[in-house]
Amino acid sequence: MKKKWVIGLIAGSVAILAVIIGVFAYQYWLEDNIVFTDSDKITVQYGDKFDLSGVNIIKKGYLNNKKDDIDVSYDGKVDEKSLGKYDVEVIVHKGKKKKAKKYVVEVVDTVAPVIELDGDSEVTVEVGDEYDEPGYTATDNCDDDVTDKVIVDGKVDTSVLGDYTISYSVKDSSGNEATAARIVHVTDTTSPEITFDGGDVYYIAKGTDYSEPGYTATDNYDGDISDKVEVSGTVDTNTSGKYTLTYTVKDSAGNQTEASRTVRVYSPMSVDTVNPGSKVVYLTFDDGPGPYTAQLLDILDKYNVKATFFVTNTHPDYQNLIAQEAQRGHTIAIHSASHDYARIYQNVDAYFKDFDEMNNIIIAQTGKSADIVRFPGGSSNTISARYCSGIMSQLVYEVEDRGFQYCDWNVSSGDAGGTTSTGEVFCNVTEGISRNNISIVLQHDIKDFSVNAVEQIIQWGLSEGYTFLPITAQTPMSHHGVNN
Ligand SMILES: [Zn+2]
Repeated sequence: MKKKWVIGLIAGSVAILAVIIGVFAYQYWLEDNIVFTDSDKITVQYGDKFDLSGVNIIKKGYLNNKKDDIDVSYDGKVDEKSLGKYDVEVIVHKGKKKKAKKYVVEVVDTVAPVIELDGDSEVTVEVGDEYDEPGYTATDNCDDDVTDKVIVDGKVDTSVLGDYTISYSVKDSSGNEATAARIVHVTDTTSPEITFDGGDVYYIAKGTDYSEPGYTATDNYDGDISDKVEVSGTVDTNTSGKYTLTYTVKDSAGNQTEASRTVRVYSPMSVDTVNPGSKVVYLTFDDGPGPYTAQLLDILDKYNVKATFFVTNTHPDYQNLIAQEAQRGHTIAIHSASHDYARIYQNVDAYFKDFDEMNNIIIAQTGKSADIVRFPGGSSNTISARYCSGIMSQLVYEVEDRGFQYCDWNVSSGDAGGTTSTGEVFCNVTEGISRNNISIVLQHDIKDFSVNAVEQIIQWGLSEGYTFLPITAQTPMSHHGVNN
């Protein structure tokens, strides 16, 4: 009995000892089978959530075969929105046992800012134009807007062709750097300009030697490049007509300009020209003679062109030029002594009183009566209705009954109305002539700008093959419709 008690006591002690040893052994076993492999530093990117995924725990032995049989947690506080270092203790639990390690968690920013360029990253500027920086913004994950910290480097010289690089760089407060670049191409797409000395239409008399009247070519970038102009085409000054010369020039950027000049070769009228039946121009001048008539007579002589003067006595000081006109081969015709509508269109007698007065001046100046007449305002005028209803219908009959022919016109220079420049007179007359085989052109030799257009009208007409003739009794007369 005593022996059994002793055996029980021993067994009990062994069991207690085993439990104690087991408890200690278990603790040591946990110590041995959990290994923290990391250094004691954990890095968290600014703004990222801190968790323990960055901590590597290796389980060994028995633990390695089982899942989720340990718990991992940590003590300490990490503010991921504030850069800096935080102390954290990572703890591994197995039941009531634990193993812990201290870590330093560092919240860092290694993300570079982002530069966004306004406009394209490649832009083209015409040489000479201004280049304006289109703008940019820079933002950072940590510092937010860092646009004002951007350093822009590089210059664009828009006066010199080339490719320029503008570089942009910015650093955030952690020293992370971003860069961007914009390419600026300074190009020349503007073509040179050619200007002609002597105008783009050049007149030259038949038989005269033609020499290039000159030109200038200027380019926005190259400056004067007149010496690079190539001229093609020929002018045969022995043959009347129209010749086109082409001028071509290229600037150093390859922009090409082509311009052309028309050279018109005219031959003055020969003395014995007769009506060839088509392309005839009758130049007629009303309301003179006046201050510009002498100049006009010289121009007409220069080209041996004979014209028709529907004369008045409104500038009596120039009356003697009626004789000059006749002597130089022009036709003198009656227009009106006074050209006073209110007076002449009162009645038929008043009209012929003025008519005879003018014809008597003509007889005195030229030695003979006129046989052609043009009504002031033309036969179609309506102004006469203010003074006498139906008078034009009577006068067209009465004039012919007295053995005269009246003549209107089919090309108006416009010089009595809205047209006030030599250029417009030239255009109106030449366009009008171009529309007709036979043209009776109305101009007024008391208008200087109109007289100034005559030389070019003649040069143009001769180079186009027109014949200029004076109106005679045999000329088919132009008659407007009578409106009063
Ligand atoms: Zn008139």
